[in-house]
Order: sequence, then structure tokens, then C-alpha cells
Amino acid sequence: MTSYQDLKTSLDAQGVALVAVSKTKPASQIMEIYNLGQRIFGENRVQELADKYPELPKDIEWHMIGHLQSNKVKHIAPFVTMIHALDTIKLLHTINAQGVQNNRQIDVLLQIKIAKEEGKFGFSLEDLKSQLINVDLKSMPGVKIRGVMGMASFVENMDQIRQEFQFLKSGYDQLSDTFFEEASFDTVSMGMSGDYNIAIDEGSTMVRIGSMIFGPR
Ligand SMILES: *Cc1c(COP(=O)(O)O)cnc(C)c1O
Repeated sequence: MTSYQDLKTSLDAQGVALVAVSKTKPASQIMEIYNLGQRIFGENRVQELADKYPELPKDIEWHMIGHLQSNKVKHIAPFVTMIHALDTIKLLHTINAQGVQNNRQIDVLLQIKIAKEEGKFGFSLEDLKSQLINVDLKSMPGVKIRGVMGMASFVENMDQIRQEFQFLKSGYDQLSDTFFEEASFDTVSMGMSGDYNIAIDEGSTMVRIGSMIFGPR
């Protein structure tokens, strides 16, 4: 637990936001980190997030970092601050509708597939660009696209991980030049316990760290 403060101090000095990933951990352990000053927590399952929300302080900013099905958005739309894994335009429309219904604007990140491994979620960068041309973002007051998110391959090869993060940062730059010129398109969510230093080197503005803070799951 002492490592939390060192981590936070170092991230603050680098201007990188910290999502403390609390999946599988009980409310009591979340409160220990909350009491050290942490306010942004991340969960990857809708049910677990919806169960924890009422048990914990209301000034926590909850980030949904896991894969999200459209039919489950309604369970978290009243309170979730940011959704990291937007991977279809259909989901964007659903989140917008739920945001409007709850009188909120929900922040989202476009998940881009950067890992060479099979079976990971996310848009391919080229598909995303061609699909965004047909999306009228100005008609979606319930949602705000704040940036991109990606997960590197689970491999030992640090060069490969670095290249995957470079690809995500370059995708972010291209999207910001073409579709999102506003200053609020400001987030590159990449980096976990094992690779966050590489991610920050390559331009991460937000890291999602679980086991380093809470211990192994
Ligand atoms: C679990 C998880 C993390 C954190 O992983 P650690 O290795 O425990 O830091 C980050 N991002 C996502 C999407 C996760 O599911």
C-alpha cells in the first residue's frame, strides 16, 4: 500500500492521470486508497461496478474500463464518469441516448486495437476513421469523445509493447487532426502495472493500474 503514494507522486509530476483499477477488490480496500487521496477508480464489469457504487463515497469518479455491451449501459449511465472501451458506433449511440435520458454527458474513449494478438476488442484505426465520417457528433449531447484507449499485447518483448503504444499515440494524433480538433480531445489511456513506464514514454496521459496498487488478483 505504501507504493500507492510513490506512484501517485511520480505520475502527478509527469502530468499523467491515474485510474486505480479496483476490480475484484472489496470496498474496504478501495477505501484505504481513497483515504490516501485517490478519487478515480476503474472497474471492468458492469455488475461489480453497479454493486460497488452505492457502497462507496459519492465523490469517486468511476471509470468503466472493460468491454461493455449496449444492453448494459443503462446500469451505469446514471453515475459513470468515463467509459474507456467504446468499440462500436452502435455503442456510441446507446451511450448518447442513456446520457440524454440521465441529463448527463458521459465521457468516452475510442478503443483501438493495437495488440497483434487475436481476440482483443477495439476498432482497427482504418475502420474507425471510415466510420467516423458518417457520425454526426454534434447531434449527440449525451456523450463526449475524450480520446483513445488501447491495451498492448501480453508479451515480454518490450520493443513490441513500445511499438503498439506508438501506434496508439499516432492514431490519437491523426484523429485529433481530422475529427476532433477541440481541446477536450485530450486523453490517451494506455499503460497498466507492467508497462506503464513505456506507455508514459510514448505519450500516455492516463494509466490504468490495478495489481501494483492493490496487490495480485
Ligand atoms: C485489469 C485491467 C487493468 C489493470 O491491470 P494491472 O495489470 O492489474 O495493472 C488495466 N486495464 C484494463 C482494461 C484492465 O482490465
